[in-house]
Order: sequence, then structure tokens, then C-alpha cells
Amino acid sequence: MQKTHSLLLNSKRPLYLWNLKVLNSINDGLFSDTLYLYSSMLRSGVHGNHFTFPMVLKACSNINSVLHGTMIHSHVHQLGFQQHVFVQTALLNMYSKCDELESSRKVFDKMPVRTVVSWNSIISAYCRCSLVDEATFLLHEMRVLGFKPSSTTFLSFLPTCVLQQGLSIKCCAYKFGLLNIREIPLANAVMKMYVKYGQVHEARSIFDLMHEKSVISWTTVIDGYVGIGNVTEAFSLFNQMRTSIRPDFIVFMSLISGCAQEGNLLVASTIHSPIVKCGFDNEDPIDNLLVRMYANCEDLVSARRVFDMAHEKSVFLWTSMIRGYTHLGYPLEALELFKTLLGTAIKPDEATVTTVLSACADLGSLNVGEEIEGYILANGLHSNLQVQTSFMRMLCKCGNLEKAKAVFERLSTKDLAAWSSMINGYAIHGMGEEALSLFHKMQKTEMIKPDAAIYTSILLACSHSGLIEDGLKFFQSMQMDFGIEPSIEHYTCLVDLLGRAGKLELALKTIKELPVKVQAKAWAPFLSACRKHSKLELGEFAARKLFDLNPGSVGNYVVMANLYAHAGKWKEAAVTRRLLDDRGLVKESGWSYIEINGSVHVFVAGDRSHYQLGDIYNKLEELNAKLLEAGYIPEADNVVHDLEKEEKEESLKVHSERLAIAFGLISTEAGTTLRIIKNLRTCDDCHSALKCISKITGRHLIVRDGQRFHHFESGSCSCKDFW
Ligand SMILES: [Zn+2]
Ligand SMILES: [Zn+2]
Repeated sequence: MQKTHSLLLNSKRPLYLWNLKVLNSINDGLFSDTLYLYSSMLRSGVHGNHFTFPMVLKACSNINSVLHGTMIHSHVHQLGFQQHVFVQTALLNMYSKCDELESSRKVFDKMPVRTVVSWNSIISAYCRCSLVDEATFLLHEMRVLGFKPSSTTFLSFLPTCVLQQGLSIKCCAYKFGLLNIREIPLANAVMKMYVKYGQVHEARSIFDLMHEKSVISWTTVIDGYVGIGNVTEAFSLFNQMRTSIRPDFIVFMSLISGCAQEGNLLVASTIHSPIVKCGFDNEDPIDNLLVRMYANCEDLVSARRVFDMAHEKSVFLWTSMIRGYTHLGYPLEALELFKTLLGTAIKPDEATVTTVLSACADLGSLNVGEEIEGYILANGLHSNLQVQTSFMRMLCKCGNLEKAKAVFERLSTKDLAAWSSMINGYAIHGMGEEALSLFHKMQKTEMIKPDAAIYTSILLACSHSGLIEDGLKFFQSMQMDFGIEPSIEHYTCLVDLLGRAGKLELALKTIKELPVKVQAKAWAPFLSACRKHSKLELGEFAARKLFDLNPGSVGNYVVMANLYAHAGKWKEAAVTRRLLDDRGLVKESGWSYIEINGSVHVFVAGDRSHYQLGDIYNKLEELNAKLLEAGYIPEADNVVHDLEKEEKEESLKVHSERLAIAFGLISTEAGTTLRIIKNLRTCDDCHSALKCISKITGRHLIVRDGQRFHHFESGSCSCKDFW
């Protein structure tokens, strides 16, 4: 009895048992436990040996604790393991992984004995810090001292080096007989390097020589093809891959993003079923990419199906779905989904808010946009420049330029995007002078260099405000002073400028110098200019080009029909309109939209569905009488149908924007600014009528039509009758 007791007291757990426990905890990835075990071991009076130290040092580097590492270093020192290459290499590795390169090097320099492994470790330490030249020097030194590099040596280099360095590393590896196709990780790393620099064919030739291929080998080459936009080859490899090996998560991510880039629904839909088969559906990153892929292929139904099926929806998934709706022109659906999101526990982030604001901008919904402002303020997003810029853009596009200006001025730092948005705001509102003055300020006081996008806004500002000379000057200086190659958007603005100035021959010459496939965009403003200057023959020429290049665009037929009607050629006008029917095209019906006290009212021409119908038509009657008194003469030309004159005048009076304005007038206090969004271009007659109405009622009327903004005030319009 006595004997057993003393045995228990004196029994210490032997070191080999401690080592076993430590090993188990390392294998289970329980690194903090490892360190705890180590300190228990020390407390029990047992010290580590050359098996213990590498393991506990590994634990230190895994939890990135240089503090513990240094402590163990001192134990190593006290116990006299300075000569032990295995332990010393472990120390070197620990420092390197904890980003202590200098300490790492100190250990290396003091090592009396080194092995290939210690050389590899120090080389990898330098590569990890992207000090490839130093690492190369060590490689050289290592060889001089008679050590033969292993595949691990070269593996350290490849992820960090630039192509040139990579190629010499590859040659060196080849010289040592390491780049034979059996060294799968090294071959994979070389392929990855080639892929990174777009040299997919080089990667492929290595791939084809490999006897055995890992999932990483397949993924690397497939990803390479996706990267250079060859989705077909990526898919063909993917199909080969499936016969021999189970595809992983990463290969699907790569293929889906390839399909998203491609935007080809047929190709894209083939990826979905293998994903389901491999059980990767319901993985958030995959679902997120699938939603984006379908949205890019303009298949919102499939995108929504993926979204709805996802068990757990991350904020990224929500944002991708909302963005899909916004980009494809479904702002209402985007806002609807955003409202649903607000009802969940998930918090929208900057990207979500930015996307939703752009939906508001498209819709012209100032009201919802301002609700979102509340959200921005409540969630501390107001210091985010990107959010503020899109808020500004929304205000501009919804017609509240004053507030946009205030937001812009409040910004503590303004980047190019912020300047660009404000300048664009002035441009679309026809405030050319303001746009130009801001543009000068940006360059002179802020020293910000303009880019191609800002020049599009500047040219737009010039054309919308009839600043022909300035516009032409900017078009030149953009190229001469900043080396910006004009894009089709710039050329379109140039054609528009020249067209407005009546320099149709010059505009024609500009278009003819453009590549044919982008000409369609430039012919449209040219046709409008022909209509403006009543150039029937040139207009016919432009229309023929447009009908060939862009047969689906309804607007062009309408402008041409208007041009004929304006010249009294009713028969030709009717023929042009009939072309629409023959080609199965449906003319988008005009609608106007006004927000009163937070609710939305949409009107179509001759609308008789509104609940305040009687009051609206009474107001219209009253307005019409006053218009005639004020000397307004209806321009019957604008009704393309070959109707009797009186009938034409009747239908003009009930164009959707007039109904919206009549409703706005009866629903708001005197003096309130009315904001109307119209989907199509406002006709000449409504334009004259609105100028007159602004004078009679003393109201500021802001109309965003399919072309631009019009600010009607005291009988004139900001567009100076150019639109
Ligand atoms: Zn009209
Ligand atoms: Zn106008």
C-alpha cells in the first residue's frame, strides 16, 4: 500500500507519452491545445526533445504567435539544441511563417550544419516576402556549396516571381531533372505561372505531357482558358476531366465566371446540372456566381430560381440578384427585392446600397432614393465615397440637381468618379456652363487628370447646351493633351454637336470614317439632326442605314416618320410606320410618371383610369383655354397618323406628360416644383405647351424624357429647344 502511493507520487509521465499527445493535437489541428500541453509538460518537470520542438514550433506558426515561438526558442537554447539541424530548421520556419524574416535569417546564419531542407526553408522565407532576387542568390549559393535543389526549392519561387524570373527557375528545375512529368506539384506551379501571365498554350503543353494529373492540374488549365476567354476549350477539358476525376469547387467557380463573361446562355446552362450532381449547389459562392452568370446571360428567371432555392442567402447573393434586375432594366423588381432584404436579419452593405440607388436613378424615383438616404445615415454609410457618389448620381437622374450639388460640396475628398458624376449631372440637365466650369476647377485646383468617361460627359454637356465651338475644342484637346482615343460614345457626341450646328456634311463625314459595326449609334443623332433641320434626303439616307444596322430600334422609325410628316409627306410617314408592323416591332407606348407625397402615379396618353380622372381633365381643359389665350398654337405635325387636323389637336392635348402635370398641379401647393419622368422623347408640341404652362402657372417643371432633362421655367426651357 505504502509502496504504491510513493510510486504514484514519483511517477512522471514519460516524454515519449507527452510527445504522442502533442502529435495527436497537432494532427487534429488543435494548435492552442498543443501549446497548453507543452506548458503542462514543463510544469510536470519534463523538458522537450528534438521531436517535441518542431511540433510545438509548428503550432506557434499556425496560430501566428511569435511570442510563444520566442519563448520556445529560449528553451531550445537552454537545452543545447543549437547543433540540431531538425530543430533549428523548425525555428527558422516558425519565424518565417510569423513574418519575422530577420530572425529567420539569424537562425539560418548561426546553423553549424545545414541540409537541403534548411536551404529550402530560408529560400521560401524570402520568397514569402517577395524578395525573389535574394532568394535566387541563396539558390545560387546553395548550389555552389554542393546542395542539390529539390522540387520544393523551386516551388517556393513560382507563386511570387515575375514571368522572366519564373522562366529561368523553370529552366533550372529542368536542368536538375525535376520538371519531369512525375513531379505533379512542381508542374502545376509552372502551369499556374504561365496561366497568370496569359501564356495558356505553354501551360497546356506541360499539361499534355503529364502522365498523372491532379485536380489542381485540371483546374489550372481550365482556369487559364477561362481567363483568355476561350470558354469552349475550358468546357471541352472539363468534360474530359469528369471522366477521370471528381471536379472540385474551384473548377466550377472558374467555369461559371467564364460563362458569365461570355454571356452565352446555351453554354451557361450546361454547367448547372454537373454542379447539382456534384452537390455544390447551395454553396453560397457558387449560388452567387450562378445568379451573376444568369443575369449576364439576361436570364433573370433562372437567376431568380437559383436565388430562391438558396437555403442561406448572404448579402452578396442578395446584391447580385438586385444588381441583375437593375442592370437589365427592372428597377421596380430591384427595389421590391431590396425592401424584402430590409425585412431580414441581413444588413445591406455599400455594394447593395449603391446598386439600389442606381435602380432608383433609372426609375426616377426620388422618393425611394431619399428613403435610402435614411438608411445610409442610420447605418453609417454616409462617409463612404462610393455610396455618396451613387446617391449624387441618383439625385441628378431624378431631377434634384440642387441637392446633388449640396452632397457634392459636402464631400471631404472627391475622386474622379465624384467629379465625373457631378459634371455628368450638369450635362444631362443642359447646364453646360456649370459642367465646364466644374471641369476646369477639377483640373486647375484639384490637379485631377480627366479620363475618357469624363470627356463623354463634357461633350454631352456641350451638345446638350449647344456649345458647339467648345465641344469641338474639347474633342481635340482630349486627344492632343491627354492621349485619349475617342470611343464610339465620343464620336456620337461629336456627330450630335455637328448635327445641332447644322454642319450635316461634316457630321456625315465623321460617321463614314467610323468602323461600320459601331456606326449605328452615330446615325441616330444624325437622323435627329436631319429632323431638326428638315433635311429630308439626308434623313432618308440615315434612316436606311439605321434600318439596316439596327432594324430592331423602334425609335428610329418614329423619328423618320416624324420627319416625313413634318415635310407633309403623309404617305411616306404611313409607310415607315407600317414597316414597324411588318417587322413585328411594337412601338413602346409613352408613359409619364410623377411622385406625389411618396406615391407613384403613372399616366399613358389619353389615360382614363386615374381615380381623380374628372379633376385632371377639368384642369387640362382650364390649362388648354389659358394656353390658347397666351397665344400657343398646337403643332399638329407631331401626330404621325394621317388624321384630320382637329382630331390631331385633340390627341396632342392628352399626351401622358400633360396628364401628369395636370395631376401634379391639382395635388400640390402653389409654387411646388413638379418632377416628371417620361420614357420617350417629348414631342415638339408638348415641349411648347410645357414652356407656356410653366409661365401661366409660375411653376418649375422638370421633365426627364427619353433624351435628356428639360427644366421649364417662366416660359422657356433649359434645353434651348435643342433635344
Ligand atoms: Zn407630346
Ligand atoms: Zn426642353
